Amino acid sequence: MTEKPVVLMPEDIQRIMGKDAQRNNILAAKMVSEVIKTTLGPKGMDKMLVSPVNDIIVTNDGVTILDEMQIEHPAAKMMVEIAKTQESEVGDGTTTAVMIAGKLLENAEKLLDKKIHPTIITKGYGLAARKSQEILNEIALKITPENEDVLKQVAMTAMTGKGAEGFKKNFAEIIVKAVKQVQNNGKIDLKDIKIEKSKGDGIKDTELISGIVLDKEKVSVDMPEIVDNAKIALIDFPLELKNPEIDTKISISSPEQLQGFIDQEEKTIKNMIEKVKMSGANVVFCQKGVDDFAQYLLSKEKIYCCRRVGRSDMEKISKATGGKIVSNLGELNSSELGNAQIVQEIKHGDDTLTYIEGCQNPKALTILIHGGTEHVIDEIERAIKDGLGDVVSSLKTGLVVPGGGAIEIELARRLRNFGQTLSGREQLAVEEFASALEFIPVTLAENAGLDPIDVLTELKSRHDSGERNAGLNLFTNKVENVLEARIIEPYKIKTQAINSASEVAIMILRIDDVIASSGKGGSMQGMGGMPSGMAGLD
Ligand code: ADP
Ligand code: MG
Repeated sequence: MTEKPVVLMPEDIQRIMGKDAQRNNILAAKMVSEVIKTTLGPKGMDKMLVSPVNDIIVTNDGVTILDEMQIEHPAAKMMVEIAKTQESEVGDGTTTAVMIAGKLLENAEKLLDKKIHPTIITKGYGLAARKSQEILNEIALKITPENEDVLKQVAMTAMTGKGAEGFKKNFAEIIVKAVKQVQNNGKIDLKDIKIEKSKGDGIKDTELISGIVLDKEKVSVDMPEIVDNAKIALIDFPLELKNPEIDTKISISSPEQLQGFIDQEEKTIKNMIEKVKMSGANVVFCQKGVDDFAQYLLSKEKIYCCRRVGRSDMEKISKATGGKIVSNLGELNSSELGNAQIVQEIKHGDDTLTYIEGCQNPKALTILIHGGTEHVIDEIERAIKDGLGDVVSSLKTGLVVPGGGAIEIELARRLRNFGQTLSGREQLAVEEFASALEFIPVTLAENAGLDPIDVLTELKSRHDSGERNAGLNLFTNKVENVLEARIIEPYKIKTQAINSASEVAIMILRIDDVIASSGKGGSMQGMGGMPSGMAGLD
């Protein structure tokens, strides 16, 4: 008698189990961290990313690189998620987070080779991660919104080596001023700081506008170019003859009837514009369309108008000028209008922008980035966003830490001490965790062409002798007190990076079975999404 085989899964399912699964996932994670490693720190290199339609991005921003690479391997994708979380939670530190995760997994592999069971490793990593948070809480430095100098240093550290180099002092001023202006009872929403870009002038012309800049021109050339003492109406319905969203059908049997209908429609528009005028408005921002007849009437009244202004811009203008967005004209009166010293149309090269400037105590404003080419402007934008994210994050927690690897070395030192209180095997895991953190200063040194072993040895011995702020200063290429050298980072960068890196490392280490339908994922085939030659960039 022959037994029938039991079929659990269809034949095209790929399955990798045990050690193979682990090694395969670790390899993929390591590859991801290898790719971005060379971009870490102020001396890191940039990458040129070319999309299938030949769009080019030149950047050293971790999350941008990983995003553009279209990675497919499932474990590698989990690494990319770390960068994305870091970006949304802090706005900076994406390379650091991914590198720590990669190194945690690489070091775990060493322990696996020594036949240490994954559960011991994940337990040790978990303990070390929790201890790291404790240590960070203990050694972070407190700051208040009044410490503007420190905030500027945080912004400058974030922008060091990012194409904004020569101008980072100006940018830091702009960033800190912007953040302080939009903060509301200690709450800060980054959405209140608009970043607008203008191609034409130089990077040095980048400016903070106390108001909103729109990528829009006025609807008619007959409208005034400049309106002083602007009274701004914000309306979210169309100034048009017919609402095109409503399908209307009219039966007309004579020319008189048609004329009558048109007259009626025109009268409605005339009424609308009359109401706008009566409110005292001399500027109108309309979220919907404004037709020719309405444009003509507005021009006649010397009212400046932009149409199809996006909802988020409407809200920003409202916050900046104090005007209310109205949904029917009955509501529109002088008290609903926003105020600005000046509204004007300005041309920069090919771009025509509308400036709403000189707002009193605006709760939303604009950083207008100028630059010669799109690639330059985009990289400056990423640098400024890093600076903004770091300043906001420092203010939110009120805590900062020394950069240049100082905090990582101090953490590693204290983690090793902590490890000694644990049983033998977990101690090994905690030690590997500590050395994963040391990978940050090691890489900072390597990317600057310094000898990583010399640097690490010096850093460790200085910390052992109590210099907890000793870090690698890449302005001087020396190990010194980085607080004095003004290399300062937000506390949240480190807590978030260590948290998500260890979570993902632990998750990947727990996997001992990869079951992939459609033949993907289980094999290295998934890495096929990475542009070939990318690995060769290192
Ligand atoms: P991430 O994506 O992780 O933010 P970066 O390329 O921005 O990566 O590099 C951040 C690292 O560079 C941090 O460890 C920070 O302390 C370090 N760093 C910044 N400025 C300096 C400096 N002047 N000297 C040494 N290290 C620096
Ligand atoms: Mg950074």
